[in-house]
Amino acid sequence: MAAATAHVLPDASEVRDGRLLIGGCDAEALAQEHGTPAYVFAEDDLRARARAFTSALAAHHDGPGEVVFASKALPCTPVLRLFAEEGLGCDAASGGELHLALHAGFPPERIYLHGNAKSQAELAMAVEAGVGTIVLDNAEEAMRLSALLGGRRSQRVLLRVTPGVDADTHEAILTGQAGSKFGLAPDDARALIADPPAGLEIAGLHMHLGSQLFALEPYRRAIRALGSLGEFATYDLGGGLGVPYTADDPHLDVEAWVAGMVEAAHAELSPARPDRELVLEPGRALVANAGVTLYRVESVKAGVAGERLVAVDGGMSDNLRPMLYGASYEAHVATRMGQGGVASTVVGKHCESGDVLVRDAQLPDARPGDVVVTPATGAYGYALANNYNGQPRPPVVFCSGGRSRAVVRRETYEDLHGRDL
Ligand SMILES: *Cc1c(COP(=O)(O)O)cnc(C)c1O
Repeated sequence: MAAATAHVLPDASEVRDGRLLIGGCDAEALAQEHGTPAYVFAEDDLRARARAFTSALAAHHDGPGEVVFASKALPCTPVLRLFAEEGLGCDAASGGELHLALHAGFPPERIYLHGNAKSQAELAMAVEAGVGTIVLDNAEEAMRLSALLGGRRSQRVLLRVTPGVDADTHEAILTGQAGSKFGLAPDDARALIADPPAGLEIAGLHMHLGSQLFALEPYRRAIRALGSLGEFATYDLGGGLGVPYTADDPHLDVEAWVAGMVEAAHAELSPARPDRELVLEPGRALVANAGVTLYRVESVKAGVAGERLVAVDGGMSDNLRPMLYGASYEAHVATRMGQGGVASTVVGKHCESGDVLVRDAQLPDARPGDVVVTPATGAYGYALANNYNGQPRPPVVFCSGGRSRAVVRRETYEDLHGRDL
């Protein structure tokens, strides 16, 4: 495989005679069989990443620990089912995500309900389902939950604290800073801890600094801020481990991140409780690099400024991140991998000038009919997919050992009006 892209593609992928194989399946043959655009995952990578997190946590922390998939990164039932089998917990940030987590078979006690604007119906649904942990965002919600429990039973909760730490990432995915819409200011957390509403068993504290982080130092400062709020049985340190989207991106491996997080918790929290529970909530790091998107080239032309425009059969409907916050991806022709080439702009098919998937791709002379692959689209692609321009959402395909199977079908045109009354 072209060395430059090796850590961006799934581990279970290779390049043979210039052709990309995912989980042993030829990418062009996958495009032929499943159509395009398609989200293609190396199933073995999903499992391996789950195991990398759980084994690293067990290796570095003697007390209880849990790895919880932040399901918003890929709220796809077959993927959730796979992670449930691997023994992960599941974050749900809405009633819909809670429904999916339960439907996928997560034991309710391993589900964490999040959200900064939980509705009464969502709280009731969680209580009814026996969700193990509700992560409280504000004092008003704590009162509502207490009222809902009505003295019938107690509910384990964590308090989401805004530690007031700025991490180095895009503003849109930064969540732990002062002024964030998420969580309780430390003083408000103190007030709840001192006088918890009836029925709420405050097991510990939660933080989530933001996403696409590569430095451990902001986590350490935030953990220190949590440590100043007292001693608890459980600390949920959130997710956010960054992933490489392009060859130029930094890369921090799972083992190093988990080791660093645990070490920071051991160093910054009271040494009197080595048995405390640590919870980690990776989202994208479990799924981003396990997946790629396959497209067909529909047209190639020169733009007004002479730039080469390669238009594919998807775009902002299957990958909103470039438009949402300028996210960068690579693009390759799946049958001519690693053959540098011509500076090209890979654009989508949608009626928006901003519908650009990759600005500075180096593509070998792409032609209509070629299969273009964008690596590292496993996170927040499927999750943010939409039907703009009447585009049916793509299927999800699992590949392993040279076999592929669609685990979510492509939407049909009929699906587009399926909700009409
Ligand atoms: C989004 C989110 C995560 C996961 O973030 P990633 O950047 O995908 O790892 C974890 N915890 C909470 C509370 C989140 O909102």
